[in-house]
Amino acid sequence: MAYQSTNPYNGQIVKSFDDIDDAQLLIKLTAAQACFDQVWRHKGFAERKAVLSRAAALMRERTQEFAQLITLEMGKLIAQSEGEVKLSAAILDYYAEHAESFLAPEKLNTAKGDAVVESSPIGVLFGVEPWNYPYYQIVRFAAPNLMAGNVVMVKHASNVPQCALAFERLLEEAGAPAGAYTNLFITKDQVAKVIDDDRIRAVALTGSEGAGAVVAQRAGKNLKKSTLELGGSDAFIVLEDADLDSAVKHAVSGRMGNSGQACTASKRFIVVDALADRFLEKFQTALQGFEAGDPMDRKTTLAPLSSAQALKTLLGQVDEAVSHGARIVIGGQRIEGQSGAFMQPTILTDIAEDNPAYLQEFFGPVALFFRVPDEAAAVALANDSPFGLGGSVFTQDVERGKRVARQIDTGMVFINSAAVSMPDLPFGGVKNSGYGRELSGAGIQEFVNKKLIRVG
Ligand code: NAP
Repeated sequence: MAYQSTNPYNGQIVKSFDDIDDAQLLIKLTAAQACFDQVWRHKGFAERKAVLSRAAALMRERTQEFAQLITLEMGKLIAQSEGEVKLSAAILDYYAEHAESFLAPEKLNTAKGDAVVESSPIGVLFGVEPWNYPYYQIVRFAAPNLMAGNVVMVKHASNVPQCALAFERLLEEAGAPAGAYTNLFITKDQVAKVIDDDRIRAVALTGSEGAGAVVAQRAGKNLKKSTLELGGSDAFIVLEDADLDSAVKHAVSGRMGNSGQACTASKRFIVVDALADRFLEKFQTALQGFEAGDPMDRKTTLAPLSSAQALKTLLGQVDEAVSHGARIVIGGQRIEGQSGAFMQPTILTDIAEDNPAYLQEFFGPVALFFRVPDEAAAVALANDSPFGLGGSVFTQDVERGKRVARQIDTGMVFINSAAVSMPDLPFGGVKNSGYGRELSGAGIQEFVNKKLIRVG
């Protein structure tokens, strides 16, 4: 069975779900199209807002219930799961509140005639989403698009089926009509069939480069727009005038949040010579203080990785890096004595340009440490990556920070903090990190028809 909850803390299979067959899939596609044509596109913003606001309120009321499902299925520390539930509710509220102004008709200053651009929904959208933030990822896609009048169908990651169902039920309970939000337990072959289906107007994927390429290629073949939110290997630059303690604090949270399994986690620590030794010493001490344990227990500070396979992949990357000359400063092994997929917090250094690790994303608590002579070398190294998602710059001179940020080839740069995600900050990348934006005013513009109407 493809969709399965397996507790990453103890490896126990908790629940399994059958894939739907093609006939059931067709029924769901038909229902989604009918909902769009007959109901949802005709609702005003106030009616859509009522549904999303109610969903946000229900999420907050039942934070514990929603959070425990995240921790059960993908192993996140319970306090971080609660944070994710609250952020997801905030995104629902944000679009409920602001969609109408984001999509307001725009009168144009034209040389001749009377012209206006109006935004209208395009129809049924399909999202393919990852497990690392099981609600946040789908809310980023669903909330703006539902408010815009589109309807959405989602294939969630196969290891978080209970979160997938919980979110579908939430919207139903909040008053969304049948077909407005549809969860799909489908195979990868069926993903292709959904993209091929005439009723699907556009596709959004968050996940790996491999999955992004498969899905975007299929969408392109069908002349359908896609957005891709893919991986990253964000640089964390520490300049010689940085506040060292603050930089270390953010380095720890930037690398260790979600057990390191975030696309915008800080992954490459690029520190100017003058601070490099002191940074490394403090960073190492802080990472050695993490304690593995049950992620449901509030005392635990180190959660397991999402699956045994995720741990195997990460250990394989560390071994490969070492075999190509990297040096392990701390960690590098699985944590013994635990049944879950626990990885020791790890720092690797001496990573040469020809080391495969130099270009890879490490999806777990493994930090790559680089020492550079100056700011220019830091920027050059930050940009020497196939990815272009986010990044951080630490300096006490904010204007200098902004100058450096402008030279970094990514979709987001944070000065004096690790990456953060908030409803009103645009999220997305360039290069192999994908294209398109989610969140903020930008996120609601991706899948609407910007229609020109001109008089005269
Ligand atoms: P993944 O394997 O690409 O999975 C993501 C989604 O794509 C899942 O629903 C998965 O389904 C599906 N999928 C995978 N291969 C597919 C295929 N050939 N055809 C159709 N669907 C396919 O990614 P992951 O390993 O779970 O997630 C980690 C990656 O996502 C990292 O690279 C991370 O940086 C990136 N990410 C990016 C962002 C962002 O906003 N930029 C956010 C979070 C994560 P199954 O589960 O059934 O395989």
